[in-house]
Amino acid sequence: MSLETLDLWIGGQSVPANSGNTFADRNPLDDSIYAYAAEAGGEDVDAAVRAAHEAFQSFRHSTVKDREGMLCRAAEILQRDKDEFAEILIDEVGSPKFKAYFEIEMATDMMRAAAGMTRNITGQTIPSDHPGRFSMSVRAPLGVVASITPFNVPMIKGVRLSCNPIACGNTVVLLPSEEAPRLARRLADMYREAGVPDGVFNVVTGFGHDIGDSLTSHPLVKVVTFTGSSVVGAHIRNLAAQHDKRVILELGGKSPLVIMDDADLDSAVQGACRSIFVYQGQVCMGASRIYVQRGIYERFRDAFKAAAEQLGMGDLRDESTILGPIISERQRNRVVEHIDDAREKGASVLTGGTWDGNRCKPTILEHVDESMTVFAKETFGPVTSLYPFDTLDEALEKSNDSEFGLSAAIYTTNINHAMAYALNVESGMVHVNAPTLHDEPHVPFGGVKNSGTGREGTIDDIETMTEWKWITIQM
Ligand code: NAD
Repeated sequence: MSLETLDLWIGGQSVPANSGNTFADRNPLDDSIYAYAAEAGGEDVDAAVRAAHEAFQSFRHSTVKDREGMLCRAAEILQRDKDEFAEILIDEVGSPKFKAYFEIEMATDMMRAAAGMTRNITGQTIPSDHPGRFSMSVRAPLGVVASITPFNVPMIKGVRLSCNPIACGNTVVLLPSEEAPRLARRLADMYREAGVPDGVFNVVTGFGHDIGDSLTSHPLVKVVTFTGSSVVGAHIRNLAAQHDKRVILELGGKSPLVIMDDADLDSAVQGACRSIFVYQGQVCMGASRIYVQRGIYERFRDAFKAAAEQLGMGDLRDESTILGPIISERQRNRVVEHIDDAREKGASVLTGGTWDGNRCKPTILEHVDESMTVFAKETFGPVTSLYPFDTLDEALEKSNDSEFGLSAAIYTTNINHAMAYALNVESGMVHVNAPTLHDEPHVPFGGVKNSGTGREGTIDDIETMTEWKWITIQM
């Protein structure tokens, strides 16, 4: 069977890269080539931004009804074609079926919420100091939005980082992860069929380290919305400041999960499994640090180990499979290095630490200390460490001892402890008696410290993706 070659999507046209170059898009299960994708260069990025800028000149005048209709139709297409989208998510980024459909449902919710957003882009009437002066503010779309997405949730982020800007009347150039070009191109087909005008949604595939800067510093780009690693995020933050762009950064994490003595053990164990092993730990909100109060430590450890060892690692198309392959050789090496470094420096491996092909078994470490890389750095694999503690203050201090602050969770039946933790943990999001991993379309989603800048979500995105204009009329 000959392999598909994916073109760029610019101004409503499928076009090869100006250089004619392509790159291999691999299936992480066995590293076989899944497709080839156009490798965009600076000229292609410029063409995509110019197409988006041109489309903006008319799209900024589109009616709410038009944009609402397009986004509702896109959500219907996503649902109609969900099996096809799921196949891409399974083969292109190694999603188990359960995670693929989870992404599709969440992305559909995001799209529907974006359709609703269009009717909430309201202004104000403002009292004036001047007699007979009528004063009001309206929101105007900004123009071209550069949307840059990671490999791990290409559907959720590919949709959210495009439908919210479009809901506000902006146009988009999407730079997807080099690991997920096909999914991005499929989103372009979905938007076209939904009636989104040519040039409103564009896709440039290629390597972010080569073409990212030409996108984020392009004079016609007004907003950069980025989800990815903290290292690339810091680089974009600096560049965006130099070029005066609005920026939203959703970055990495090292999310703490706290289990108090009075927690419901079963739900804490299930929550811990969901928080770190879903999609083989390649989740920004992954609970890679688990603090367990001493009175429940041994019972939790034994139950968590047993539960982790039973998680499905079978066929990706089997409903019960939870863990699939790690995305790339580079990322696999990182997981191996983190585990080996911890072992060499005296950590014990309670379970896991071994591989089945490109899949790392669920790995739980004990006796981890700050000399080990895994103590503070994001592994982005199915690897977590258990730490005992005595008091809530100690759990808080340990939770806050991190450069990251994306998500956190606490399991307890004491409401005072739950609220004390929630209010004092340095984290953009906190969940009580629920996993660290959670998102909804309309909530303020995001992190503090090196986990990000700004918030995503329909309400926050109206702020980010529009600009106030003050208008007065002297009567
Ligand atoms: P990555 O930073 O390697 O890549 C993300 C995107 O950035 C890709 O599209 C890549 O092409 C692009 N890129 C690379 N260099 C660039 C540059 N100089 N300018 C502009 N774009 C550039 O991240 P990844 O490995 O794809 O994803 C994993 C990371 O993403 C993890 O750190 C994870 O925690 C984070 N993440 C965060 C969230 C969140 O909402 N906070 C969600 C998912 C993933």
